[in-house]
Amino acid sequence: MSKLLLGKPVAERIYTELKEKLSQHKESVRLVSILIGDDPSATQYARSKGKKAEKLGISFHLLQYPAEIEQSKVEHEIAKSLNSIKPDGVIIEKPIPKNLNFERLTHLIPDHADIDCQKFTTLGKLFAGEPEFVPATAGAVIEMLKFYNIKTSGKKVVLIGRSLTVGLPLARLLLLKGPYGDATLSICHSKTQNLSKETLKAEILIVAAGIAGLVKGDMVSKDAVVIDVGINYVNGKYVGDVDWDSVSQKVDSITPVPGGVGSVTTAYILRNISSQLKKNIA
Ligand code: NAD
Repeated sequence: MSKLLLGKPVAERIYTELKEKLSQHKESVRLVSILIGDDPSATQYARSKGKKAEKLGISFHLLQYPAEIEQSKVEHEIAKSLNSIKPDGVIIEKPIPKNLNFERLTHLIPDHADIDCQKFTTLGKLFAGEPEFVPATAGAVIEMLKFYNIKTSGKKVVLIGRSLTVGLPLARLLLLKGPYGDATLSICHSKTQNLSKETLKAEILIVAAGIAGLVKGDMVSKDAVVIDVGINYVNGKYVGDVDWDSVSQKVDSITPVPGGVGSVTTAYILRNISSQLKKNIA
């Protein structure tokens, strides 16, 4: 059995720092989660953020809309609500229904509240190497590596996934200079030919494809560290992109799903709110 890289102790450390920061802030802090439709993963992301936020004394506002709502109508409704709530952080939960334009929705997020780096402008700062925010999932993966002292510098890192939400920001972070950057990085995606040929070379394999069980035991080397970012709802439970039974018997260490990166992502996003409060602390 591989060593388990659990998210809980990593998240707890973030929460401890966060509580300390929030205790110095006099006014209430407001987080808005925008949930359109009833996708189970998006619903789960919103729910877990809400629970944690309330525990920390952050006031949590869930704006929920039906899947069939029209773009102009949902934009109008969101703008009205954000104007009255005046949030410190806003997240649009993904995936959104296919008939809606995500990028247009992100224009409604005030710059200072774009805590998951969802606007192209905020993302641009990250890619330019001057991040205002680090997107939570990518940041959570780096936090996991730091906590478990898994250095990427000079290592062969294979990343599956090239989305703007997870894969590409994470790739940028892995190429920053430093012990948890400086990776020799390969990025695989839906058009990669012979995925196993790539994954077998990985000293560190990070999977963010959104396909349950994509990576099987015969696709990984026995000394690999495997970070499973995937969260897929299958037969009433959440599973990762890595086939747990075959991979967890073989590799050096692995993050479970649930209980791995996901719990750190929630902590990271809440910490991103606090990074904006500095100027308000007396
Ligand atoms: P996405 O659908 O936007 O992107 C998936 C990526 O995987 C694409 O770049 C695609 O090219 C690649 N891909 C798809 N099929 C592939 C295949 N057969 N072989 C190789 N690559 C393939 O998804 P996303 O938003 O990047 O999310 C990825 C996963 O991470 C999902 O399961 C999502 O639920 C999960 N997620 C987890 C967290 C967390 O906190 N752990 C946060 C956000 C997303």
